[in-house]
Amino acid sequence: MKIFYELAYWVGTIAQVVIRYPYQKTAKAGVKTMQLVSLIEKILLVLLTLVAAFIPLIYSLTHWLDFANYRLPIWLGLCGLLILVVSLFVFWRAHSDLKANWSPSLEIRADQTLVMDGIYRLIRHPMYLSQLLWAIAQILLMQNWLAGPLNLLFFIPFYLLRSFAEEKMMQDRFGDAYRDYMKNTGGLIPKGK
Ligand code: SAH
Repeated sequence: MKIFYELAYWVGTIAQVVIRYPYQKTAKAGVKTMQLVSLIEKILLVLLTLVAAFIPLIYSLTHWLDFANYRLPIWLGLCGLLILVVSLFVFWRAHSDLKANWSPSLEIRADQTLVMDGIYRLIRHPMYLSQLLWAIAQILLMQNWLAGPLNLLFFIPFYLLRSFAEEKMMQDRFGDAYRDYMKNTGGLIPKGK
């Protein structure tokens, strides 16, 4: 099963890159009116890349990390596969609803609009939800103390910092429209009107 789980993890990683690729191009092109990147966020982003890609790669390609392996029952591994698929679905939906408003760091474009439909009708941070689901799936699929749970550990402070700064930035730009939107939606957990 180990190889099967790892294969799913890497196919999922490639799917993420493919889903994001066209939006990455448009994100670079626009004119920005606001840009907020703190040093602590930069550090957390490097750490997240390390624990989501670099350490799992070492785990998959070598035996160096075998001392830290753990084994979970098959049903938990299968839950991991399911959560990975849900994470990718949410990731795709969020990109296709946010379109050119997406940016890798906190930015406001000159032509930015406030998206409140599609998946954003229920939840303000679907991309971060997909990252959270991914980190949970990673614990169940990459059954190793170094390649599995560290992503979740670093994601939590990243999410708290990022969502706080993002919501403040969006309120500065969109005012009451964003404050009303906050009242009617959940942050990570979907909430209808
Ligand atoms: N927090 C969102 C978006 C992450 S991408 C999510 O998890 O899906 C970050 C960028 O998205 C920010 O720089 C901001 O400019 C933009 N953004 C976030 N919410 C938005 C919304 N409802 N409408 C338009 N742009 C949004």
